[in-house]
Amino acid sequence: ESFAETDFPPALKTNIERCKYVKPTPIQRHAIPIASAGRDLMACAQTGSGKTAAFCFPIISGILKNRRPGFSSVVLDRGGGTVSYPTALILSPTRELSCQIHDEAKKFAHQTGVKAVVAYGGAPIFHQLRNLEKGVDILVATPGRLVDIIERGKVSLTRIEILALDEADRMLDMGFEQQIRKIVEHMNMPPPGVRQTMLFSATFPDDIQKLASDFLSNYIFLSV
Ligand code: AMP
Repeated sequence: ESFAETDFPPALKTNIERCKYVKPTPIQRHAIPIASAGRDLMACAQTGSGKTAAFCFPIISGILKNRRPGFSSVVLDRGGGTVSYPTALILSPTRELSCQIHDEAKKFAHQTGVKAVVAYGGAPIFHQLRNLEKGVDILVATPGRLVDIIERGKVSLTRIEILALDEADRMLDMGFEQQIRKIVEHMNMPPPGVRQTMLFSATFPDDIQKLASDFLSNYIFLSV
């Protein structure tokens, strides 16, 4: 089987072709149909398995299929600043991984109008906020920096329809559990939407199982 046979929008298929992806990796072959059907998912995935595309393709496909004409992802706030409303959020543990995911997401979203923005700690926040103000569909972020941006009132997570947690075990090892929980609380604020959640992890200790039972509903567990 190949990506050409999927029901992805043509613009996404073109980008997949341009990236020279022909055959899905095992994680992609199994995760993409589940994610595309809107189901929650917990997947065992190592670096190099192709997990980035496994969550990026359904995210981009979903945005392209649901996008309302004229929909704006940036809104003016009362003080004359702006609040950005991404519809997809990808959380990852490090600056390096976030940048890698962002680079891939940009390639997959090339010329589709879907905008991906990255925000990570340990770097000045100013440019990240500027990028957010230009509009964002997919936000790729490390947990600590995202909490900072939320608290500054620059981003709202109330329109998030799809959440991907990448390398969830590493995020917990790095002490991000409290921030992740705070972020998910912001997604649950009114108006209550229906959120799809995908959790990727290399290991499944008790704290990951707990996170899954708290954040995922009726999920499919995938181990390939
Ligand atoms: P990841 O595990 O997402 O970091 O991907 C590992 C590497 O495999 C990256 O360089 C991807 O660009 C590449 N890759 C992922 N999926 C495919 C695919 N279906 N065909 C060819 N290369 C791929």
